This record gives sequence, structure tokens and C-alpha cells, in this order.
Amino acid sequence: MQRIKEQPQVQNFIDGSFERNGHTPMDVISPLDGSIISSLPLSTYDDVDKAVQVAHKAYPEWSGKTLKERVQIFFKYRTLLEEHMEELTNLVQLENGKTYGEAKAEVEKSMELCEFAVSMPQIVVNEIQEVSKGVECRIERKPLGVVACITPFNFPNMVPHWTMPNALVLGNTMVMKPSELVPLSTMRMAELLQEAGLPKGVFNIVNGGKEVVEAICDHPKIEAVSFVGSTKVAKIVYKRATASLKRCVALGGAKNHLLVLPDANPEMTASNVVASMSGCAGQRCMAASVMVGVDKVQHIIDRMVEETKKIVPGENLGSVISAAAKERIEGYITEAENNGAKVLVDGRNATVPGKEGGFYVGPTILDYVTTDMSVAREEIFGPVISIIRAKNLDEAIDIENGSNYGNAAAVFTQSGGLAKQVMERASAGMIGVNIGVPVPREPFSFGGWNESKFGVGDITGRSSIEFWTQNKKTTTKWNPEAQINWMS
Ligand code: NAD
Repeated sequence: MQRIKEQPQVQNFIDGSFERNGHTPMDVISPLDGSIISSLPLSTYDDVDKAVQVAHKAYPEWSGKTLKERVQIFFKYRTLLEEHMEELTNLVQLENGKTYGEAKAEVEKSMELCEFAVSMPQIVVNEIQEVSKGVECRIERKPLGVVACITPFNFPNMVPHWTMPNALVLGNTMVMKPSELVPLSTMRMAELLQEAGLPKGVFNIVNGGKEVVEAICDHPKIEAVSFVGSTKVAKIVYKRATASLKRCVALGGAKNHLLVLPDANPEMTASNVVASMSGCAGQRCMAASVMVGVDKVQHIIDRMVEETKKIVPGENLGSVISAAAKERIEGYITEAENNGAKVLVDGRNATVPGKEGGFYVGPTILDYVTTDMSVAREEIFGPVISIIRAKNLDEAIDIENGSNYGNAAAVFTQSGGLAKQVMERASAGMIGVNIGVPVPREPFSFGGWNESKFGVGDITGRSSIEFWTQNKKTTTKWNPEAQINWMS
């Protein structure tokens, strides 16, 4: 297999320097063509401990700065993201396999997340009140200490930015563990943060897999853990981190339902549903996975089939992350077909000329799926949509409510009254009306319900301020002649 020479070997970033730890290396593979692009060290508890000790040492000085001082670095960092847009986009594309446009949109979203972080001095204003004559109570938001973030493969640039800018601006220091499948974007992030002026030890990276995650959950000096990934691992991380008395928010997988009503605008609906299920090769936790077609929607399904034919793997559809992912996704399609689903568009066995080693699955539409099939219940995480037919809106909402997950749900209709019913009754944290990927933009916070999220609050926006800080309540009296009361 060909090695792309320009990519550095993956190294841990501790105390402002990259260091290789001598542990078993693991190949990093570009899903675009299956080539080895780098290798990553599988770190251990000792590496996590070293990073935590460094972050702990950096904490007093970093947290001692004012919020206004800390955000200055992120103004510069956001500019660096913009200046390096092309390079960062190419890196996301190389390690994750998404299209150029999708990779660029991800970096742009990272910039938006920085814009929220630098606005903190305008938002985080402490409270003060004279509670009785001469006595004042104040609440101040204080950082937690050393915090850790564990990220998935599907957004190598954006998901680390869901947490890093807010947590650091609020005064914490951090250890990040990126997905071992896409470690390069995070390494570049560390270099740019340093260039922006972030002091050594404030942001650290430890690469690896399960062992690093377990060490993060167990380490006594880590105060809070954020996790983004599959529900299976989110549960493990949430239980283990909270068992060692840490704050934890763990975002899991998804099975998003789009409810399509017969009065929906056919053109807009068909293009939105197809874009939602196929964008980023279906590897978005906000991707459409089930379409519940209510009553007479055949005309919309016909348009969806037409739309899908415009999507070509390797051109406007990226790869999936690995050979194992391709096999899993195709296995779901075959199983559904064997169980009676009708394959309207078949994405199995897709290849891209010149990139035969890449991992591609074409867009796939399965019709007449029933609620007992695996494709109706389990997260596929590929460019596949399962259509379930429902007689009426109540039945459609029941189907959506029956999912264990609850990240997103959407309705396509021209009726405000029917849309309102879905807005109120869908069991999901993020709802779309005529929007296939209802990701809240900053400053609105991101987070699902049910088995799509464990822990209190959301991971971005205002909600994240609660997560990354704790309140200090101080009561003061300076004048001896102030009232004597129970508080004195
Ligand atoms: P994953 O759960 O396999 O991995 C996530 C992280 O956990 C990685 O850093 C990985 O190294 C680590 N990990 C994997 N197995 C582990 C184990 N047994 N013990 C401890 N740590 C382990 O997820 P992924 O495949 O990288 O990402 C895709 C998943 O992430 C999908 O389920 C997707 O829906 C979900 N996701 C959710 C959101 C959200 O906002 N809810 C956002 C993005 C991705």
C-alpha cells in the first residue's frame, strides 16, 4: 500500500511538545483509497497520567487569567482556522473520506464554535445582589480543573471544537483523546493553538483506543469528561466516569426519523431527505435513517429515487470510514432485502475508478421496511434510508417514539398545525420542520434525548457553560453597622 509521505507520524502532544511513546503503533488508513497515511501510538494509563499532571500544573496560571485575557487567544486561533482552511479541509478529507465541500463545512462550523467561545465575556456575567442591608451575595462561575474529551471519527475537526474552545476559555485545562481512526486533524489543532499563543500544558492530546478512554474515566485528577461516539461506548464511559465521581456528558448514536406527510412540497422534501441520508456518506449522528411516509407519498418517493441517481460515489459522495463499516452497512441492506424490504436504489458493491482500495457504499433506498427489521431499529451509519409506510400521523409519531434513540426527528409538511404536533410529540432532542438535518447553530445547544445522550445538559452553547464551570457563592459584609440578623 502506498504511503503519503507528507503526513507526520501521530504523536501525543504533552506540555507543548509532540512526543512518541514507543508503544505498539497502529496504521492510520485513508478511507478514500485504503492507503496507509500515518501510524498512531496506542498509549496507556501512564501517558494519560503524564498529560494530566502537565494539565494540572498549567491550571493555576491559566485559570488565574481573566476571561477577557483567555478569549484573546481564541480570536487569533479562529483567524488561523480561516487562514488554514484549505489545508484543514484537505486533512479532514484525507483521514475521514468525506467530500471536499463537507470537509470545508466542518472547518467552517469549527470557526462558528470559536465565535461562540470568544463571546463568553458578553454572556458569562456574574450575579450580585444586596440581600439585606449591607450584605451582598454573589455567584461567580469558576472552572473545574483538568477536563477530558473523547471524540469519534465522523467529524475529525468539528467535534473536538464542540468542547475545546468553550472548556478552555472558561479556564479549564484539557486532555483530548481523538478517535484513533482520524487523529491528524487534532494534532494540527494543537499546533495552531500553540501558534495562537495558548500556554504549554493547557491543551494536551493522548492518542490510542480503549485503554486511554478507561484511563481518562479512572484518573482521579480529571474533573469532567465529555464523550461523543456510539451508544454502546457512551454507556460504558458514562458509567465508568461517574463511578469515579466525575461530571460526564456522553453523546451516543442515533436513529433519526423523518416524517413525510402527503402535503409536503415534493421537490424540497425529496432533495432534503436524500441529502440528509447521504451527506457525509450517512455518517452523521443527525442523518436521516428512517423515513416514515404517511398515507399517499409515492410521488415524493419517486422523486427521491430520481434525486438519488444524481449521487455518485467518489464524486459527490464520500467514502465510509473503513472496510468493516462497508461490510456492516451492506450486510444490513442484504438482511433487509432477505426479510422482504424492497431495494429501490442499491448502493452495494460500489467502486470508484482509480480508488479501488477505498471504502464506498452508494446511496440506498429501502422501501416497505417494517418496524421489526434491524434496519428500522439499529443505527446503520451509512447512506441508507429505510422507508416505513404509516396510515396516519398518529401511527407515524408512535413509530418515532418507539426508537431507543432520540437525537433528531423532522417533519415535512406545509401544515403548521400538523408540524406542531410533531414538534410537541416527537421524542428527540433536536426537531426539524422541513429541515432534514436540524443541527442547532450556535449559540443554540446540541444534544439528543433517550439513548442518544447520557448526563445533564447539552454539549455546546449556553448549556456547555454549566457543564464546564461550577458556581462559587460568596456572601460579604464590610460595614460593621450593617443590620444584625441570622446571617451575621
Ligand atoms: P465509537 O463509540 O466507536 O468511538 C468513540 C470513541 O470511543 C473513540 O475515541 C474510540 O477510541 C473510543 N472507544 C471505542 N470503543 C471503545 C471501548 N470499547 N471502550 C472505550 N472506548 C472506546 O464511535 P465512532 O465509531 O468513532 O463514531 C460513530 C458513532 O458516534 C455513531 O454511533 C454516531 O452516531 C456517534 N456520534 C454521535 C454524535 C452525537 O452528537 N450524538 C455525534 C457524532 C457521532
